[in-house]
Amino acid sequence: MKKEKIILTGDRPTGRLHIGHYVGSLKGRVELQNADDYSKMFVFIADSQALTDNIDNPEKVRQNVIEVALDYLACGLDPEKATIFIQSQIPELCELTFYYMDLVSVSRLQRNPTVKTEIQMRNFEASIPVGFFTYPISQAADITAFRATTVPVGEDQEPMLEQAREIVRRFNHIYGETLVEPEILLPQNAACLRLPGTDGKAKMSKSLGNCIYLSDTADEVQKKVMSMYTDPGHIRVQDPGKIEGNTVFTYLDAFSRPEHFERYLPDYPNLAELKAHYQRGGLGDVKVKRFLNAIMQETLEPIRNRRKEFEKDIPAIYEMLRKGCEVARAAAADTLSDVKKAMKINYFDDKELIEEQARRFAANQ
Ligand code: ATP
Ligand code: MG
Repeated sequence: MKKEKIILTGDRPTGRLHIGHYVGSLKGRVELQNADDYSKMFVFIADSQALTDNIDNPEKVRQNVIEVALDYLACGLDPEKATIFIQSQIPELCELTFYYMDLVSVSRLQRNPTVKTEIQMRNFEASIPVGFFTYPISQAADITAFRATTVPVGEDQEPMLEQAREIVRRFNHIYGETLVEPEILLPQNAACLRLPGTDGKAKMSKSLGNCIYLSDTADEVQKKVMSMYTDPGHIRVQDPGKIEGNTVFTYLDAFSRPEHFERYLPDYPNLAELKAHYQRGGLGDVKVKRFLNAIMQETLEPIRNRRKEFEKDIPAIYEMLRKGCEVARAAAADTLSDVKKAMKINYFDDKELIEEQARRFAANQ
């Protein structure tokens, strides 16, 4: 039997979504959704996970749930085709997490490179909340609860997917084939795997404040692009410039298409020629940034406009999420029931157990 294709991903409601989310995951999800080559698609707002490092700031999480939902709809996720839901409303996920915790060692969690970096970023070294430390396990619950086969995410999620796969294998080995092993789906374009921040830092991230948000105004986008990090050694126009580590060129790698050159920079046939000129010297940062700005404006304008439309009926969006939670909850309950059966903790549905115990005690009467 051909394995069903079930797509799942989520985002933490710690801020509005940015162009790193867009190229790393969101754009891919919309393409998958529109390709129609899947049986189910789940997209969720990971509020429980966001609380693991924001426990003293629930208001931030509460405010951002709707922002993320609006960004989803603005990018073209369609609630008719994808179940969009909020993680905390699915208690089955907590139950699964609890059981999976017994399948993972502390040292295995400590080896997770993404968690290591995130602990440093948040100055958690001295005292890591247990919930934050164990979030890769809860992520495995999110993925497996929906029997996801395909998880479109950025490169920073690779260790989480590996952890989920290990849990699945261990569970199935001990309790018999129950869970589905997920595959990561990374963006094809290398520049999109982990888009750097506008400050040149390794990752654009809500927590680092180096983002271009999907909902930024045209002016905000322009300001951010024009003050972006380039090659600090490229001072005068005639100086040769570096492409490597030059954020403006990384963004061009991620966003530019041949038609953008025709429209906005017809002197250059393609990106390779533009890069070569920059490296030779004689091409100023401002010209390249203006070109990037034109591309960003063209990419973001339709998203921003669609968002404005959805912002007109906020109660309808909460209602869409509520319905999504209902559908998601039923799916997760189904998996949890299989898990409890496999783990032999389904006492009241286990007729065999009840009869067996009755016989055992009857024999002793
Ligand atoms: P936080 O700082 O709160 O962790 P974040 O900006 O890292 O926020 P997440 O909600 O953790 O965003 O990530 C959601 C999804 O977006 C994940 O699939 C992640 O891989 C992807 N993603 C986030 N940032 C980037 C980026 N800079 N480049 C590519 N993909 C990204
Ligand atoms: Mg993150």
